[in-house]
Amino acid sequence: MDSVEKIPRNFITDIIDADLKEGRHDHVATRFPPEPNGYLHIGHAKSICLNFGLARDYNGTCNLRFDDTNPVKEDMEYINSIKHDVQWLGFQWSGEVRHSSDYFDQLYQFALELIDQGLAYVDELSADEIREYRGTLKEPGKNSPYRDRSVEENRALFEKMKNGQFEEGKACLRAKIDMASPFICMRDPVIYRVRYASHALTGDKWCIYPMYDFTHCISDAIEHITHSICTLEFQDNRRLYDWVLEHISIDCHPHQYEMSRLNLEYSITSKRKLNLLVNEGYVDGWDDPRLTTISGLRRRGYTPASIREFCRRIGVTKQENTVEMTALESCIREDLNANAPRAMAVLRPLKLVIDNYGAEGITATSFTVPNHPDKPELGTREISFSKELFIDEADFREEANKQYKRLKLGGLVRLRHGYIVKATSCEKDETGKVTCVHVEAIPNSVGCDVEGFKAKGVIHFVDANNYYDGKVMLYQRLFTVPNPGAAEDFLACVDKNSVEVIEHAALEASLAQAKVGDSFQFEREGYFCVDSKYSTEGHPVFNLTVALRETKKVQA
Ligand code: ATP
Ligand code: MG
Repeated sequence: MDSVEKIPRNFITDIIDADLKEGRHDHVATRFPPEPNGYLHIGHAKSICLNFGLARDYNGTCNLRFDDTNPVKEDMEYINSIKHDVQWLGFQWSGEVRHSSDYFDQLYQFALELIDQGLAYVDELSADEIREYRGTLKEPGKNSPYRDRSVEENRALFEKMKNGQFEEGKACLRAKIDMASPFICMRDPVIYRVRYASHALTGDKWCIYPMYDFTHCISDAIEHITHSICTLEFQDNRRLYDWVLEHISIDCHPHQYEMSRLNLEYSITSKRKLNLLVNEGYVDGWDDPRLTTISGLRRRGYTPASIREFCRRIGVTKQENTVEMTALESCIREDLNANAPRAMAVLRPLKLVIDNYGAEGITATSFTVPNHPDKPELGTREISFSKELFIDEADFREEANKQYKRLKLGGLVRLRHGYIVKATSCEKDETGKVTCVHVEAIPNSVGCDVEGFKAKGVIHFVDANNYYDGKVMLYQRLFTVPNPGAAEDFLACVDKNSVEVIEHAALEASLAQAKVGDSFQFEREGYFCVDSKYSTEGHPVFNLTVALRETKKVQA
């Protein structure tokens, strides 16, 4: 996968092309506006790839703007994680990071402008009353009794709000639009409310905070955004976006365009719900490898290129749909298949003894093997070999039918990169479990066929006298249902058995040197990466990133 991929044509690039051609714009300026109330998830990646990608493809700009108008839910930890995730995905914002809170002074002045034109009023209905008066989709709303206050009175009351002379919920500023509008968002929306909370950046300077709909359009205009892209649920709000900009003295009027959200099977893309999973201990932090947060995908072993490729493939449309998890998995599998070095790892070790080791033609102490079958430039390595090896429990049966392409008593298999061996006997413990397999190796059979000794298949091994005894984590889907977001109690859909910890896997010795950021194909098992949380120097822990094939589960 290339590090620079162009966004495939979509309805937004069509709009931009027309705007440039017809002279409505001579450049493209986008923004990515996360609310810092959680970590970013795969849905945000779609928006990031689009907004930053458009800026890249059209030689324009993309701002990173924190939509920090709700001081109660926001946090520096989130701000830092979001910046890191955007950069990790391979994008850089134009200039400084922006914040809606950078514009609080200007927003306040624009609110005064609306008041002065008789287009905003201080309402003293309670939140419940406001809801009641708002009406429904079928019924128009009712005017608030405070709606016709004079400009002077509204000025004075808004000043009181600003000075902390109203308790929370006792007064708010509303735009005076139309309580009978078919669009509920136009029924005198609240544009400022009182909140006594310290803000991460403005501290205690303000006790009134502007609402999203008022803030967002003005912030876009202040930054001279040309194309303001959001998700479909804001379609109606576009009327309010335009109304605000038409009624204040600002020289720029960006346009809002809506695309469908990304919904991904077996995953949650709501920060509120992700917060619950994290805070109630259902997962191991925001970066739990089973989560489709950006940090979870990173810890799982996804590369930035694989996530960008996924976003490229799903495209940008106005149709709501749900993407299959396998679409995301294919992207990382293809990337790792092409780029990850191979390694040998026995997840459920079973001892194998070569009884005739040391005889003529059976004396190898190591094999030189390629790190990647198709990429000689990735070099070779030595894998050690001796009389005693580990193979996977699943690769031996005392008896099996013809379909079984692994080792059985009396049968022949090739040890990957090594000799053909024939199983002669096995040892068992008191429960009947096989504890050791005895084989005879066929002399001089490394890398070539030997007349009369046909191997049924190839199995992998690790030298039992030289290996890394390491921990491996296997993951299944976090949820038992494809659409947990729609479940009444999505927490009840968490699969408690979705992590399996293998404390003692037998791993090729060189894997002890693996570092965070390294990924491997464990031959015949899957793709694995070094876990960033539990690994220590010389003791990497491995996470399953994805199985080798779509249908094949990692062997149980
Ligand atoms: P959440 O419900 O997770 O809080 P949000 O839309 O409120 O989602 P924001 O932080 O406000 O989250 O979103 C920042 C940007 O990312 C917005 O432009 C939003 O439209 C976009 N975005 C969020 N979720 C998705 C998604 N699932 N698909 C595409 N874009 C998304
Ligand atoms: Mg939001």
